[in-house]
Amino acid sequence: MMLELENLTVAYGALTIVDGISFTLPDGEWLMIAGPNGAGKSTIIGAISQNVKYTGSVRLDGEDAARMKPAKLARKLGVLTQNHWVSYSFSVEEVVRLGRYSHSRGLFGGAGNGDNDAVERALELTGMTALRSQSVLTLSGGELQRAFLAQLIAQDPELMLLDEPTNHLDLVYQKQTFSLVRDWIAQTGRSVVSVVHDLSLARAFGTRTLLLEHGHAVEYGETKKVLSRENLRRVYSLDVVEYMRGMFEQWNDSTLDV
Ligand code: ADP
Repeated sequence: MMLELENLTVAYGALTIVDGISFTLPDGEWLMIAGPNGAGKSTIIGAISQNVKYTGSVRLDGEDAARMKPAKLARKLGVLTQNHWVSYSFSVEEVVRLGRYSHSRGLFGGAGNGDNDAVERALELTGMTALRSQSVLTLSGGELQRAFLAQLIAQDPELMLLDEPTNHLDLVYQKQTFSLVRDWIAQTGRSVVSVVHDLSLARAFGTRTLLLEHGHAVEYGETKKVLSRENLRRVYSLDVVEYMRGMFEQWNDSTLDV
C-alpha cells in the first residue's frame, strides 16, 4: 500500500511541532524516522494513524486516511506505541487475539480458522507461546512489548507503524524483533514506518530514512544517503560518525577473547 504525506503539519497553539512533511513510501520499504528527542518523530506516527490532529494530507493508496471509516483504517494500519494501555487482566493470547478483531465479521462472527492460525503464528514468531496464558498485568516491560508486537503480527496490517519497537527489549529480543519485522516485509511485500533512536539499527535495517530536526525534514530518501556524516553532524551538533566508531572500538579489544 502506498503511503503519501503531503505538507503534513502539526501545531499545538503557536508551536509548530511538525512542519510541512511530504514523502511517498511505496510497498516493501522500511522507513526509519530519525532525529533528536522532540524532533516530532512520534507525532508523525500519531498523525498517520489519525490519533493526532494535523493539516495537510495522509493518503493510503490514494485515499484520504482522514475520511476513512475506523474499521477500514484498522484493517490497513497497525500501530505499536510505547505506552501500552493495559488495565484488564487479559491473557497474552487474548491480547494477541484482539489483533484479529478488525478482520472479524461483526461482533458475533466468531473466530475463523484463519484467526487461530494467525494467533498461533504470531505467538510463535514473538517467542510468547510459553506465556500465552499469563495475565498481561504480570508481564515485564519487554514481554509486554512482545505481546503487543504479536498482536500487530496477528492483525497483519497493510502498513505497520512502530514507535520505538525495541524500547524495553534487551539485545537478544531487539535483534529478534528487527529480524522478524524484516522477514515480515520480505514475506508480505508490505511496508513499515518506525521511530528509532539507535542510528546503527536505522542503518542496518532502514531502506529509507526521514531525518528530522525541529519538525523539519532535513532529508528523505535512501538511508545511507540521508544518514550522512554532514547531515548527522548538523542535526545532533556532534560528529556522530566519530562518536559511533569510538563506541564500537571498545569491542576491537584483544582481551575480549582470552
Ligand atoms: P520525538 O518523538 O521526536 O521525540 P515528539 O513527536 O514526541 O518528538 O514531540 C515533539 C514535540 O512536541 C515535543 O517537544 C513535545 O513536547 C511536543 N508535544 C507532543 N505532544 C504534545 C501535546 N499534546 N501538546 C503540546 N506539545 C506536545
